[in-house]
Amino acid sequence: MFIVGVTGGIGSGKTTVSRYLEDKGLVVLDADRISGEVTAAGGSAVEEVAEVFGPSSVDIDGAMNRKYMSDIVFHDRMKLDLLSSIVHKHVFFEMEKKIEEETSKNTKCLILDVPIPVQRFVDMSDQVWVVTCDTATRISRLLDRGLSYEEAQRRIAMQLSDEEYSDLADFVIDNSGRLEQTYARVDELIKTQLVERGIRV
Ligand code: ATP
Repeated sequence: MFIVGVTGGIGSGKTTVSRYLEDKGLVVLDADRISGEVTAAGGSAVEEVAEVFGPSSVDIDGAMNRKYMSDIVFHDRMKLDLLSSIVHKHVFFEMEKKIEEETSKNTKCLILDVPIPVQRFVDMSDQVWVVTCDTATRISRLLDRGLSYEEAQRRIAMQLSDEEYSDLADFVIDNSGRLEQTYARVDELIKTQLVERGIRV
């Protein structure tokens, strides 16, 4: 099975690209979605989060208390790293399970949609496609999504820079322009990287 990792910073258009790939019939594993599952009530990460961050980190229904945790981690880099390391471990465990399931179904190509490209993600991927977008455009798209200017800037600053993302890339998808241009670039990668390998899209 050929695994393509799609990544990019907040507001770059990573989800837009992976939705497009999904619409083309490719199987997409969305790390954000899995992260929501492992931190929901009964999710595999909740117990460990509670052990490390205390009982207030869990709601009465047994899910991770998102409001409480985001207040803590977005002002403390070490705590953010600690929470991320716990959640990532559970997300990757689930991803590996899903990859095995898809392998046994004889799926030819799998897309991993991961916002934070930790080494394990790079190792899992045969190719990494990085979605980039200039900062001003990212901020304006995040404002449209309801984030404040300060919040958008702060979240972007906490992530890797576009250059750091691009260093990991086998291919870059620039999403600073119109959607049609982005989709045309994705179509080109589908043709040259997937169809050429015999993957039917
Ligand atoms: P996050 O990490 O927050 O999920 P993301 O990188 O997945 O962000 P998207 O959700 O795909 O980014 O895009 C951010 C916002 O910008 C969305 O509202 C999306 O509809 C919009 N958007 C994405 N690409 C374009 C584009 N080329 N032109 C106009 N709007 C766009």
